[in-house]
Amino acid sequence: MHLIGIAAAPGIAVGPIWRPRGSTSASANGTPAARAIPAGPPPDPGELAAAAARQLQLLAQHLRDAGRTEEAGVFDAQALMATDPTLIDDWRRRIEAHEEPAAAIRAAASAVATAIAALGDELLAARSADVRDVGERLARLVTGEQPDTPSRPSIAIADDLSPSATAEIPPSLLLGIALEAGSRTAHAAILARSLGIPCVVGVAGLGSTVDRIADGPLDRDGRRSDSGSATVAVDGTTGEVYFRPTADELAMLRERARAAAARDDVTRAFRDRPCETSDGWRITLLANIGGPADVDRALAARAEGVGLFRTEFLFMGHQTEPTEREQADAYRRVFEAFGRERQVVVRLADIGGDKGIPYLSLPTEANPFLGVRALRLAYRDRALLVTQIRAISTAAAAGGVVPRVMAPMVAALSDVELLDELVDEAQSGLAAAGRPRADRLIAGIMVEIPSAALIAGTLAHRVGFFSIGTNDLTQYVMAADRTNASLASFQDALHPAVLRCIAMVVDGAAAAGIPVAVCGELAGDPAGALVLAGLGIRELSADAGAFDALRYHFASVTRSELTELAQRALAAPDAATVRSAAEVLLQRTPRVPGVLAPA
Ligand code: PEP
Ligand code: MG
Repeated sequence: MHLIGIAAAPGIAVGPIWRPRGSTSASANGTPAARAIPAGPPPDPGELAAAAARQLQLLAQHLRDAGRTEEAGVFDAQALMATDPTLIDDWRRRIEAHEEPAAAIRAAASAVATAIAALGDELLAARSADVRDVGERLARLVTGEQPDTPSRPSIAIADDLSPSATAEIPPSLLLGIALEAGSRTAHAAILARSLGIPCVVGVAGLGSTVDRIADGPLDRDGRRSDSGSATVAVDGTTGEVYFRPTADELAMLRERARAAAARDDVTRAFRDRPCETSDGWRITLLANIGGPADVDRALAARAEGVGLFRTEFLFMGHQTEPTEREQADAYRRVFEAFGRERQVVVRLADIGGDKGIPYLSLPTEANPFLGVRALRLAYRDRALLVTQIRAISTAAAAGGVVPRVMAPMVAALSDVELLDELVDEAQSGLAAAGRPRADRLIAGIMVEIPSAALIAGTLAHRVGFFSIGTNDLTQYVMAADRTNASLASFQDALHPAVLRCIAMVVDGAAAAGIPVAVCGELAGDPAGALVLAGLGIRELSADAGAFDALRYHFASVTRSELTELAQRALAAPDAATVRSAAEVLLQRTPRVPGVLAPA
């Protein structure tokens, strides 16, 4: 059997299950173990804090030496937190009030973490996990406990995993990670990506499934932290977790891993080349990101800008809406990273459908994907999106950039008019308040609803750019819920019906002289990218992990071959035929000195 979560770090791992101590709040009998308390005088909080800070600085140095500067920063920050006077004073007060010292530091850290989390910002919420982590380290110094590590190379299965727990496990013992909680911007996911450890997060039902299949001995917590003969397989590229995988499933996964490794070796050689066909037809590669935490990876993959900043991720996993200031801070960080020359397309929050936000209390709908979603929310209440545009404008003013604001779920001309009104309202609000704002915002739209594709020629004259969302476009053209796994055969965006819509959008954009990108998953799929380029798409926005392969495949074809492929695709009877036609071109090897074909 298998469950599907969120693909957080690519790669495939198979191994025994290891469940970190105290990390499985939802697991069986999940109370953490009672810890041994050494006898003797109470420890001095100041001394222990200094010792923890030294440990953390060493850890940071070690990571920096290994070139892992992003995680090093996490531990530098933790070193500062460890000696924070508020934390240490509270700890001391609790010890003086006769609290047990390890429990006292956990309580003190928890109080600070709760206060930070209450600020409601995604990035600060991540810091709050760091404070708890620091508290746990200090508690371990009190009890003299060693860090929790598996006894053999394993897949870590947990409700959540702290950054230092992840970094302290010797990489040779950590084959993969699957978490019931978590998001792509959680530190465990950031670390897993940079360590090359396959990771899947947000796997609903993970803990209870492992409880059912585990047959190892009960440990002193009454849990099966080592799950005996039970193994799991994690595919961090697809987001799948297989429990007790069958021989067939293992063979399939092994084949996926072998093919991926061979491809990666070859395509990596293309990283510093422009993305262009063998006859020099240039394609721009833009990154899809969910927040500032994704920027480094995008830059490392040589992203030429951001084609889709899914800002709704800033709104998720919180008790309250992020404030205008918190949002502006996140946008500014992305603008600054890409500078004035590289575009950053900030999409207005695409809330609704499968992306519910509990604190907004949106009414329950029979068909949420066909309901009051994304831009449509502003017909009822403009405040959310006007605030967001104000934050984008202020952030752009600070970074000296011209921001691109993109509306999701545009179906009609009235939606474009609404977008213009929202932008005007935001800009005039900032002007009236005498606050800094961008001189100019470029307002564009996602084309992801068939009606918008059909009237693209009209809409193109009213907006600054188009970006085609092939995920939703396919769902709506094919009437196949994108989250319904049993409709997989209807969900291929290479279906000629979807491609014909895309061709209409390209024509509409060309007639009006506006740029058109594709930011749905099809843009990062090599077969899709070739067909899209053949249809006239010059900007592809995708996960940065797809870029090397795209550069490789474009270098092995000519522009006229792509045009011919696209013409055949438009006339094809189904998606499978289009895929086979593209596959012929994907078998090619670029004629570049020193480049071999994948094994
Ligand atoms: C799309 O629909 O193709 C898209 C890029 O937006 P999302 O996947 O966030 O709905
Ligand atoms: Mg969409």
